[in-house]
Parts: sequence; C-alpha cells; structure tokens
Amino acid sequence: MLIRTSSSATREQKEFLKRRLAGILPGARARTVRGGLEVSGFRPASAADAAPLLENIPGVAGTRLTQRELCPLVCAAGRALPAKPLNFRKDFIFIAGPCAVEDEASYLASAAALKAAGAHALRAALFKPRSSPYAFQGVGFDGLKTIARAKKLTGLPLVTEITDTRQAQKLCAVCDVLQIGARNMRNYELLKEAGRSGLPVLLKRAMRATLGEWLLSAEYLLKYGTRNLVLCERGDAVLSSDSPGLDLAMLREAKRLTGLPVIADPSHSTHDRGLAASLALKAARAGADGLLIEASLSPQTARVDGRQTLTVRTFAKLAGAILCRQKQ
Ligand code: PEP
Ligand code: MN
Repeated sequence: MLIRTSSSATREQKEFLKRRLAGILPGARARTVRGGLEVSGFRPASAADAAPLLENIPGVAGTRLTQRELCPLVCAAGRALPAKPLNFRKDFIFIAGPCAVEDEASYLASAAALKAAGAHALRAALFKPRSSPYAFQGVGFDGLKTIARAKKLTGLPLVTEITDTRQAQKLCAVCDVLQIGARNMRNYELLKEAGRSGLPVLLKRAMRATLGEWLLSAEYLLKYGTRNLVLCERGDAVLSSDSPGLDLAMLREAKRLTGLPVIADPSHSTHDRGLAASLALKAARAGADGLLIEASLSPQTARVDGRQTLTVRTFAKLAGAILCRQKQ
C-alpha cells in the first residue's frame, strides 16, 4: 500500500501518521518513499478496511492499494482450478443455448442438437432480467424439470442465471454453474449467496464496469465460498446502443491478473447473429477461453433475443472454425 502525503504535510503530521499506522495496521512496516510511505507486512485483506481510516489522518492525501491488496483471493484463484464441470485447461469451452428456456420440446431438441454440434454446456436460463416489466420474464421454477431433462438427455452441465438470493436453494439442486448477469454484478448480497452455495459461478462484467469493479465482485464470490470461477466479458452494449463490441483488452488483462478462465459473450454485445458470429471468432483469436453464446434450432420463434441467436447450423460452423484454429 502506498500512503500519499500532501506536499504541505509537516514533520509532526508525518510522525503522527506513523504512530497511527501502527494502531490501524498492527505489524505493518513503513518505508519513506517519494511522496509518502510504502507500507507492507500486513494481511492484504485488511487493506480495504484500513485505507479510509488512514485517509482521515491530517497530512494524508490518499492511499493506493496494490492489486493483491484489493483482491487477494482473485489474484491467487487461477492456481487451483477444478477441471469439472468445465475443463478450460483442455478445451475451448462453448456454453450454448437459447436466451431463455421456453417450451420443453423445443428446448430439448435444441439441447441435443447443440451437443452434437460441439457444446460443452447448456445455457439454461429460467429467470430473465428484462428492461420492461411487461416483457417475458422467463418460465421460472416451472422450467426446472425441463432443464433437468435436458441434462439427462445430453449429459451436459447447466449454466443458469440467478437473479435473487431466494432462488439459490432450488437452482443449486439442479444446476451446475450459477450465472451472475451483468445487471447483478454489483448485487453484493447475491454475490455472497452465490458464494455460499459452493456451486461454480460464471460472473459477467456489468455494462461499463471497470476491471477493478469486476475483480472486486469476483473477490466477493471467492471470499464467501466459490472455488470454481469463470469470468465473462459481455461488452458495454445496452438495448438502445448501436455500437457492438467486447472489451477484448480488458478480457486479456483479467486473464493476466487472475489466471482465471475468461470467456466472451458475443450475443449480448451485438444483438445481431451475424455480428455475434464474427465477434466470437475475434474473441477466440484475442485469447478468450470459451464462449457463452445464444444458439437454438428456432431463433425465429424465440420470445427473447431471437435476432442475436445463432441457428445450430451456424453454431456448428463457428465451433468448427474456432477448434480448427486452436489446433493450428
Ligand atoms: C444472459 O446471458 O442471459 C444475459 C441476460 O446477459 P447479460 O446479463 O450480459 O445482459
Ligand atoms: Mn439473451
């Protein structure tokens, strides 16, 4: 941690700061550097709590925490990554399926076709966070049987978005990975509950969230119990936006800092199936570890996000092209 002192700080103020520092961060060692004090020798996790107290001290201009002090668990998380239910070390992972589960027959048919086309896991969304309260909100718990049948039929793990802490118990009984959507990346009580569930979690970056905010949300999950975490870059696009795109530089930086798998969602960043397919290739080339992508047998009848949903045929072609490139 760096404590920046103001240029007008007096010698007495600096001495007082050192004494207070010993009380706030017991065991910490301080070294005078240009512009302030460099502090080490304390538990990284205590830094976020200590910083505001230190900033109240006269003569202190501010504090700067290292990445390890900000997110100690995230910085170490990539080292012991379980291979199940998704083995990112072995495969480029495709998580595919319609935006939302609708009727059972078409979901099961799409699930089987997507498995045959190379999917490693199914999008199995039951609750949809929608901008309009009048828009289709998802089938809710009524769809649990459908997704359980899809898992039995295909053997593929289920990735399901959780939108409320009260859904955790029922979803955990059936689903294999909990998805935290872009709108809920900053829902800290939901992050705690998802962490406590112990289930693997896929955490999306919120629209316009910084890398620091994204990683702090990941830190919540790990602090509360998540052991298996995947990050997902979904871009900054909102429904009215006409500028599709993923922040691939941020995706790479998240990978570098954490060692965690980072996948891309080209569907929600483009709102167009043609653009989604080409952005998916770009993301794979840029180093994404997999894709969360909307694909089904019947995008034309989907109640939500049909325009951006790939047909299974296009998905199969895309998966083939990516795998071909990976082998080169
Ligand atoms: C989704 O993947 O189903 C979804 C709602 O995406 P996002 O949270 O990124 O908007
Ligand atoms: Mn969608």
